[in-house]
Amino acid sequence: MKAINKIYVNGEFVTPHGTEVFDLVNPSTNELAGKVTLGDEEDTRRAIAAAKAALPALSATTREERINYLERLHAAVLKREEDMVAAMVEEYGGTLQFSRMSTRFAINAFQDVIETLRIFDFEKTVNRTKVRLEPVGVAGIITPWNASNSFICSKLATAIAAGCTAVIKPSEMSAGQTQVLLEAFHEAGLPAGIFNVVNGSGEVVGAEITRHPDIAKISFTGSTVIGKTIARGAIDTMKRVTLELGGKSPNILLEDADLQKAIPMAVLAAYMNNGQACVAATRLLVPESRLEEVNQLVKAAVAKVKVGNPGDEDTGVGPMVSKKQYDRVQQYIRLGQEEGAELLIGGEGHPEGLEAGNFVKPTVFTNVNNSMRIAREEIFGPVLSILTYKTEEEAIAIANDTDYGLHAYISSADNERAERVAARILAGRVAINGFRHDPQAPFGGFKQSGIGREFGVYGLEAYLEPKSILV
Ligand code: NAD
Repeated sequence: MKAINKIYVNGEFVTPHGTEVFDLVNPSTNELAGKVTLGDEEDTRRAIAAAKAALPALSATTREERINYLERLHAAVLKREEDMVAAMVEEYGGTLQFSRMSTRFAINAFQDVIETLRIFDFEKTVNRTKVRLEPVGVAGIITPWNASNSFICSKLATAIAAGCTAVIKPSEMSAGQTQVLLEAFHEAGLPAGIFNVVNGSGEVVGAEITRHPDIAKISFTGSTVIGKTIARGAIDTMKRVTLELGGKSPNILLEDADLQKAIPMAVLAAYMNNGQACVAATRLLVPESRLEEVNQLVKAAVAKVKVGNPGDEDTGVGPMVSKKQYDRVQQYIRLGQEEGAELLIGGEGHPEGLEAGNFVKPTVFTNVNNSMRIAREEIFGPVLSILTYKTEEEAIAIANDTDYGLHAYISSADNERAERVAARILAGRVAINGFRHDPQAPFGGFKQSGIGREFGVYGLEAYLEPKSILV
């Protein structure tokens, strides 16, 4: 059994001042998998002090020196790729395919940021005035349990590129995955204090990061509820915030869509990461005239999804991360039926033979109305809702009738038409005919899906303060 009893402060693994112990549970079996000692406010303050002390040197480095730091981190993380995948499968229940993809994303983040850093203008001239973009200061990085390492790598790489040191608080549920990553980071041998990692709870470590005056910026990925708490707390010391929050993404099938291609993609996009993805395409919008056809194709595609051991090559949906998350998804499956949606496939309870873990039956509701809670709230499990529309206008209205605006998907045989629709969708990203990621394109939410953007030039600017010099 794993015992994680160190945090990382000022270039060293140290015993935390905090003594609370958190149980790590394998979601496939619900057996105890390890214990992690959580840091407290005192540990957080030490980490912040180390990051503050390291800030002047890092912010004075040249672009080439920072590229060198990122290359070292990249090389060190690359060596641990297999261990990172294994930790994600075991601790989180990520399927092998998704864990590999997510780990690649984590590793590539360093190179993606290097690419941005090479071309970035830290000094511009605006109307004869010199504008310098300077590091904002110490960054607080707070991350969720889903795809934890990819968020940590992408945020840390961007902070370093900007010349900002960091204090990182991963989800306490991801401590095993963080440990592997941290060993790799340590291997890279960067100057002490550039990054510091405190395992701990949100209420203790996260809250201290939010309130501490020496943290200049918070980059947070997580739920909308906690994002709001952080934004409220951050305002007292006027911290800059980047918030990557929840979603309820529409997937619009226009009537000319090729359903043979669009439906398998729709199921994949709904159930990615076991349905625990902020960008999951959870609302499938179909023309009324094609509902029956869609229902049949979706049912057939979902019936083929293998649920089970996330470590098997062909598993499509693994367990929910925790018993709590399992219960939450079950509640929504019950709610959908109470609200009058028609259960197309799946339903309550564990799939047969998988009673020990947090496995959910991949579920689809059809004849869903956009006012139902299953269509409005982020479920964070493999539950897809099918809704109908009569006209393109109505499809756009339903797609936009949500508090969220993180991602949207459109399928059509006519790309120009799809782009016209995309222009009217209130979301930070719209994918046409498939799911593609571009690590240089800005990523973030409209409305309550967040504030600010990550990745590429937009992501880097979020760690910088413009200063105008007028001579
Ligand atoms: P969460 O909001 O519960 O927790 C996220 C992090 O915040 C954790 O590290 C947690 O310990 C910390 N936290 C909790 N309370 C805090 C507080 N009071 N102050 C400071 N920090 C606190 O989210 P989760 O359950 O870990 O992750 C799932 C959520 O994340 C979903 O809503 C999902 O949509 C969202 N998410 C968004 C994106 C995106 O890029 N937009 C990506 C992945 C996940």
